[in-house]
Amino acid sequence: MAVTDKRYYHAIQIVPDNCTGCTSCVKVCPTEAIRVRNGKAHIDATRCVDCGECVAICRFHAILPKSDPLDIIHKFKYKVAILSSAYAGQFTEDIPYPTAKKALLELGFDEVAEEAFVTDFMISLIRDYIRQHREIRPILSSNCPAVVRLIQVKYPSLLPNLLHQEAPMSILTRFLREKYMAEKGLSDTDIGIFLIVPCVAHVTAVHQPEGAYKHLQDGAFSIGMIYGKIRERLRKMNDENPVIDTYEQGLTWALAGVEAEMVDTNDIRALSVNGMPNVLEILSKVEDHYLDQYDYIVLRSCTNGCVGGCLNVENPFVAMSRIKKLIKNASKQDIDVSELKSLYKEGEFDVVPLEPRSIMQLDQDIKQAIQKMKKLNEILVLLPGLNCSACGSPTCYALAEDIVSDKASIDDCVVLLKRHQKEED
Ligand code: SF4
Ligand code: SF4
Repeated sequence: MAVTDKRYYHAIQIVPDNCTGCTSCVKVCPTEAIRVRNGKAHIDATRCVDCGECVAICRFHAILPKSDPLDIIHKFKYKVAILSSAYAGQFTEDIPYPTAKKALLELGFDEVAEEAFVTDFMISLIRDYIRQHREIRPILSSNCPAVVRLIQVKYPSLLPNLLHQEAPMSILTRFLREKYMAEKGLSDTDIGIFLIVPCVAHVTAVHQPEGAYKHLQDGAFSIGMIYGKIRERLRKMNDENPVIDTYEQGLTWALAGVEAEMVDTNDIRALSVNGMPNVLEILSKVEDHYLDQYDYIVLRSCTNGCVGGCLNVENPFVAMSRIKKLIKNASKQDIDVSELKSLYKEGEFDVVPLEPRSIMQLDQDIKQAIQKMKKLNEILVLLPGLNCSACGSPTCYALAEDIVSDKASIDDCVVLLKRHQKEED
């Protein structure tokens, strides 16, 4: 069952036959987007921010991630893959990172680029942006699409605090498109650029980019899906000394803590936060101006940053350790970022100011909304206040909201039902 609403694309789908109605997903959803009704989970497309928490928690495989089929690359003359830095942490240490990167060419790509290529440039861009926007504190990172959407849905007053620049893989997409058009005489439509990503939020961001001015990528593949195909190729490849450029020094982008350390300098104080519960707590504190002493806060919805995305295959701590080892052993490379700098100065990486997402209001009509709020408060007094989710709504307040919106009945509260049954016995 697709999570549908014409306005929003989502990279997850429900398999109703697998759903047992256990409500685990209801409890972890940060935007209260999920309800279990008649024993099956349903997702409100207007509230979902594609964080993947529900995909990770459901042990019955009833919420599955969506990824594009690999054969869509063949629609294009020139096929380019851009690797998220998390990819480097997925392979055991007997497989050199350059081999794992080169194997992608065997899948039919003409070029394989890495997010890591733009890391140093991104750090200087972020510092420049922070210094040019002294009036806004703290600036919030915009690389994690789930965090950007979370702010649109739950913390709209913080939208001006977002770093209004494209994320690294989109900046690289812009740069490569211009480069291949100029160098290879290709048109925009000849070139297919695809991301290989660690999380559902990045798949969604490719299909529905927030604030993008121009055509970006043409599809996204999950690291998990690509990993299986790469392992098959690796068995056939005899490639002990692969000749391919890699940028291990820039793999820091996959690790949330390291990005903040790199941005932090004499005049910039940076904080790093990862994991959805921490992100929610910190955003509430930012709203209360409790963290105005920070210039920049890096927010990643997954544990340890992108290595924690639910489309990876490796444990996030193991992947993080492997990436740190690759960075430690990397030889220092000087990357020419002059073209990237010119594009930045020309405003090519700017994004459209982001708008809040309107989520459920009790009623469009203010009089009706007041009536419903009164009824909601009356229902709330009757409910047990246990927030147990056994009714299929995440909290007693959410159930009261659902009842006044005719999406649930007070009989859905199993605690009240049992109480009434006892009284009748
Ligand atoms: S976690 Fe959610 S989707 Fe999975 S079985 Fe339980 S209720 Fe259904
Ligand atoms: S992806 Fe995240 S926001 Fe969307 S329904 Fe699942 S837990 Fe909720």
